[in-house]
Amino acid sequence: METMLPQLQKMREYFTSRVTYTYEYRKQQLIKLKKTLYKYEKEIYAALYADLKKNPEECWITEIGFTISEINYALKNLASWMRLKSAGTNLLNFPSRSYIVHEPLGVALIIAPWNYPLQLLLAPLVGAIAAGNCVVLKPSEFAPATAAVLGKMIEETFEQYYILVAQGDGASVIPSIMHDFRFDHVFYTGSTQVGTIIYEMAAKKLTPVTLELGGKSPCIVESDADIKVAAKRIAITKFSNAGQMCIAPDYVMVHQSVKEQFLHHLKEAAENFYNAESTRDYYSKIINPKQFDRLVSYTNSGTILYGGHYDAESLFFEPTIVTDVPLDAPMMREEIFGPVLPVLSWQHEEEVYKIIEQHNNPLALYVFTSSNAREKKWTRSIAFGGGCINNASWHFTNHHLPFGGIGNSGMGNYHGKFSFETFSHKKAIMKTPTWFDPALKYPPFKGKLNLFKKIIR
Ligand code: NAD
Repeated sequence: METMLPQLQKMREYFTSRVTYTYEYRKQQLIKLKKTLYKYEKEIYAALYADLKKNPEECWITEIGFTISEINYALKNLASWMRLKSAGTNLLNFPSRSYIVHEPLGVALIIAPWNYPLQLLLAPLVGAIAAGNCVVLKPSEFAPATAAVLGKMIEETFEQYYILVAQGDGASVIPSIMHDFRFDHVFYTGSTQVGTIIYEMAAKKLTPVTLELGGKSPCIVESDADIKVAAKRIAITKFSNAGQMCIAPDYVMVHQSVKEQFLHHLKEAAENFYNAESTRDYYSKIINPKQFDRLVSYTNSGTILYGGHYDAESLFFEPTIVTDVPLDAPMMREEIFGPVLPVLSWQHEEEVYKIIEQHNNPLALYVFTSSNAREKKWTRSIAFGGGCINNASWHFTNHHLPFGGIGNSGMGNYHGKFSFETFSHKKAIMKTPTWFDPALKYPPFKGKLNLFKKIIR
């Protein structure tokens, strides 16, 4: 494999020239990115259709429009984000003044997975550009049509010494570039397994990382929830993109007393939204045979209450609801990442905690209840990345919230201002005037202990 080192060294030189530091430069690059998204809109739809059979409406909300809204928000706020932030100063340092400068980190590497192959590459890029970095982008080779369009768009829009696309098999491309070159930040989205490999490689060069990983995200449905609304809101995001969403509800734990009612509405919603004559065309396919076969193997456990049909040739996998699933079944041990939804029931809280504890730590948690006390109870007693009350997955689309995992589901966060912060170094400066220079601050310190104890207590 040809080394990318000369190109990376050029990026380093370009970054060191400080061209990317200015507000005007960053603003212009964000505008260029936005324009190119509009220009390539139709090609992006075609690519996402080829890779995942995504429909244009979903592409807009979850990929192109999502990224444009991140750009718009960054453009609106960039000047204020870049401004010096004044900070307090403690008594010990009186009469100094303190402030924080957000500075670019340098050359960043952004690695994306295949499930939202455009958005998961470009949304972090918005933050990296806003913060003034140079960037290497690694699209997923498992969404090849989208990777090709992304390569074309980026190469046409930006100089390669500013933003460079690295295509190909991640398992060989990434170790090679991370070995040859010291990145100033690695932003990885994908499986926990590969995330661990990335973290190890980054550690060798003390490169900081953001890891946006996976996990099993549960839904808890309480008996006092609006059951019909809960079923609809779980169905829409569980089966969107055929369940290939990191924050899709992975499994549902519904209170025993409302289980039948919930299942009735869940089946109805799955049918109406994705599986009826009129909606099936708008339902995504499974990305590739490997993922398809994994999902097929799940149908051996439990009772299929709804769906369960599939077609290997078209990689179609019907929205599927499963009950009576043993807790040691593969679908309850692994992240499902597909349109199979196990529904379990519970009577006592301990049962819920026990199941969640098997899969520390969820990327998301969704609680359906009309009680503030129950909401507080669940959200404060379980460690998870982020989540929703009476909703599922949509917290991801709110750029006022930081998005990220905890423990096994990742580290760090992004979206909106949090992306800017992720790709910035907070440089802390304290400025001390010279007019006040008491002898107290200089040796000899002998005999000053009591005074020091008064200042620091
Ligand atoms: P993937 O296989 O496309 O891999 C992600 C990236 O890692 C790709 O760019 C690939 O080239 C690279 N890669 C693969 N093997 C590698 C290796 N050995 N060394 C270095 N790089 C390698 O995607 P995936 O991992 O199958 O994605 C699915 C997972 O991602 C799920 O677990 C899902 O939950 C998670 N995910 C998380 C988020 C989030 O925001 N937290 C979003 C989407 C997906």
